[in-house]
Amino acid sequence: MDSPSGIEIAPDWREALSLKNAIEDRITKGKYGGKPRPGGPRSTLCISSQVGCKMGCTFCATGSMGFKSNLSTGEIVEQLVHASRLSPIRNVVFMGMGEPLNKYNAFVEAIRVMTTFPFQLSPKKITVSTVGIIHSINKLHGDLQNINLAVSLHAPVQDIRCQIMPAARAFPLEKLMNALAEYQKKSQQKIFIKYIMLDGVNDEEQHAHQLGRLLDTFEVVRMRFKFVFRVNYNFGP
Ligand code: SF4
Repeated sequence: MDSPSGIEIAPDWREALSLKNAIEDRITKGKYGGKPRPGGPRSTLCISSQVGCKMGCTFCATGSMGFKSNLSTGEIVEQLVHASRLSPIRNVVFMGMGEPLNKYNAFVEAIRVMTTFPFQLSPKKITVSTVGIIHSINKLHGDLQNINLAVSLHAPVQDIRCQIMPAARAFPLEKLMNALAEYQKKSQQKIFIKYIMLDGVNDEEQHAHQLGRLLDTFEVVRMRFKFVFRVNYNFGP
């Protein structure tokens, strides 16, 4: 394949170009088949805060690669810069590689940049997903108002959480739920609860009842369930 300037493009660049075209195609056509979307064009960008991750969740491919490095504020914002060239970004979710609240200052600063000129994203369109870093959740509302908080709960009791999310050992479930209740009281916002149902691990009827009791005192909670069957599930040692 030749570029418009007549320079031959190497095979790996062809792959990159084809990937870029596929992404553009997806963004422009998407589920609306190229027709204007209600409310105008908008895209959601999934952002990474680290290269790899030290949390070690046993169901996560990133967790299995270990921790490589933190991303700086500039590197986090740069993802928005590049994506904005492809499509207007309306929503940002910190659900890519890494635990955003682990490198708290870089994360907070990145959101401050994203919500001011020239990006001017609405904080209400930004969601941060965490395994539950309690000391960071405790100061989140004081540093950033109106962003959405999503918590990877994945189990209704501490021992199952520790089994599938080793980092949970440092963040006891009872203390985490207290921190979330306090956050919700201060922010008056919904909390997103993420729960991956792992076959034979956390998907039994008793777990549903435990989950109901755990979340009973929360006024408004949105739940997001995902089903994973054991054949795809990589238990840690
Ligand atoms: S915190 Fe997120 S990125 Fe890190 S291992 Fe767990 S699921 Fe994967």
